[in-house]
Amino acid sequence: MRLVLLGAPGSGKGTQAQILKTELGVPHVSTGDLLRAAVKAGTPLGVKAKAVMEAGQLVSDDIVLGMLEERLAVADAARGFILDGYPRNLAQCEALEQLLARLGQPLEIAIKLEVPGELIVERIAGRAAAEGRKDDTPETVRERLRVYAEQTAPVADHFARLGKLAVVDGVGKLEEVSGRILAALPAGTEEARASA
Ligand code: AMP
Repeated sequence: MRLVLLGAPGSGKGTQAQILKTELGVPHVSTGDLLRAAVKAGTPLGVKAKAVMEAGQLVSDDIVLGMLEERLAVADAARGFILDGYPRNLAQCEALEQLLARLGQPLEIAIKLEVPGELIVERIAGRAAAEGRKDDTPETVRERLRVYAEQTAPVADHFARLGKLAVVDGVGKLEEVSGRILAALPAGTEEARASA
């Protein structure tokens, strides 16, 4: 299964991806996690990305694409992936399409998790308390939501135009939401899951 998860910051993409990777037997590929690991390791790219992430803005398309390309080349991604946090703008949609075409692994579906704004703010506040992410401060969250509305929201329309978008209600218990996502996957996934 080759799947993209879309949705605002705090909509539950990362949490759902953790559940789905077991269900589907494919890795969770989060560009945010890859970037956070690079920042933590102090790599040259991590050093470049740190301030941009802490400001709630988007890291340059080239840096993120390079990291994604490297990650998708790891053997565990040969059977598919759950992509979380990418694409974040229309240029990244284009880059992803080309990359996946080159890998002979075209995307099957994009799933958008829909969660009302008030709940997003509440969830991010909870995560800030639990995980202490540097970009979960109120000011940075506001900027991340602004960037999402301006640059990332059009990504869903892009996949809708390709006939590859399913919108799923992201409100409810974790297993209710993952059940909805699994139900929205293309036919044939059940057999793939059985053999995963
Ligand atoms: P996330 O964990 O997906 O919320 O990402 C955390 C931060 O990493 C974002 O606010 C961006 O600064 C950066 N980031 C993650 N994915 C991307 C991407 N695809 N393009 C640009 N920046 C990204």
